[in-house]
Amino acid sequence: MTVDPMKTLERLLEVSRGLGDPVEIETYLQSLLSAAAELTESESASLLEYDEAAQEFYFRHVPWFHREAVRSARVPLNESVAGWVFLHVKPLVIDDTAKDKRHYKKIDKLAGFTTKSILAAPLIVNGKPVGVFEVFNKKEKYSERDILVMESLAALAATALQNNMLEKSVFSSQDEARELDRLKNEFIAIASHELRTPLGLILGHATFLKELLGNEYHEQVDSIIRNSSRLKDIIESLTSVDNYETGGALIRSRKVSVSRIIEDVTSSFHDMARKKGIAIKKETPQGNDLWVDVDSGKIAIVLSNLVKNALTFTNEKGQVIIRGEKQPDYVQVAVQDNGLGIPSNDLPRVFDRFYQVESHLTRRHGGMGLGLSVAKVMVEMHGGRIWVESAEGLGSTFTFLLPVISKSSGPETEKAFVE
Ligand code: ADP
Repeated sequence: MTVDPMKTLERLLEVSRGLGDPVEIETYLQSLLSAAAELTESESASLLEYDEAAQEFYFRHVPWFHREAVRSARVPLNESVAGWVFLHVKPLVIDDTAKDKRHYKKIDKLAGFTTKSILAAPLIVNGKPVGVFEVFNKKEKYSERDILVMESLAALAATALQNNMLEKSVFSSQDEARELDRLKNEFIAIASHELRTPLGLILGHATFLKELLGNEYHEQVDSIIRNSSRLKDIIESLTSVDNYETGGALIRSRKVSVSRIIEDVTSSFHDMARKKGIAIKKETPQGNDLWVDVDSGKIAIVLSNLVKNALTFTNEKGQVIIRGEKQPDYVQVAVQDNGLGIPSNDLPRVFDRFYQVESHLTRRHGGMGLGLSVAKVMVEMHGGRIWVESAEGLGSTFTFLLPVISKSSGPETEKAFVE
């Protein structure tokens, strides 16, 4: 008596659908083993996976009552049905194992089982065999139909194993990435801390020397001061992102006019704009000072970083507009340029620390890819948000929102920012 063809198809459909269910791999393999035994009317089933390094098979899944017995058992590549199927990459039926020396008899002894007949099908992943799916002891002979059923189930098992492998490698890559990120942050925190003190001394002594030395050495001392100040800014940028991430950043909030910040920052860039032949202008509403409760030093840094980038990445005769406007509950500031723009595939990452659109090797502009990450953390510290719209060759607009009422209270408050 064979299983009704309609029932076979229904059962195959059921296990195929199970492949998409979020079940544990072991549960799914168990359902395949049950389906294999049931549809081929076999006494038992097992799934062997090939161990490339040892050149032998181990039992990936067997019915629970055999599990303990075969847990550490191995099946050799040579002189086994599994080995034959694996090497020939095609199914095999043995009607009488007693008459066929390909059957590896040691396992029977271990499991207390007598194998009389076998149907085995290869598990194939990307055209390569990775294991073997077997059923044992059908009362009648295994038919062509049984072979097809086993090949279908083996295909499902192979896909399940491959999905499991991919899932594991995704998890381990995520773990690795998290660990690398942790190490990177730790390194940055330690390095910035250690650099700060000697740099402070260099700057202090250089400023002192400038006063002592005559005019003839001013150029050299100025160069020391300028470059150490640059290093100091880089360290400040690194630590501000780090402090934010570790919850140690400080905001000194007070009521300030965003119109005023825009005015100050714009005028501090007039020289740079003039030298590059770029028109820079501000647009703020008449009669509205755009009052917000923020740390004005930090918001000035945010705006300066955006304006500096706008000027850096805009060619001669370009234009940069800094716009401030009132929105319900927020003040919105936008820095618009008609410069190089940012390719769409770089856009999601420009706010990442150290991210730069140009590669280091081909870079014409300085910078370390820190300005935007600093701007982002500083805006977010105030409960605001920042984003960019850009089209390559047409220009970019960086916009940020600041809540009118700060998360902190009082006329002047100082608080550590904790996410
Ligand atoms: P950097 O200090 O190296 O400029 P940022 O974090 O400020 O780092 O910016 C990251 C990258 O984003 C820049 O290197 C640049 O490639 C791109 N970028 C930022 N602002 C603009 C802009 N206004 N126009 C075009 N590209 C920009």
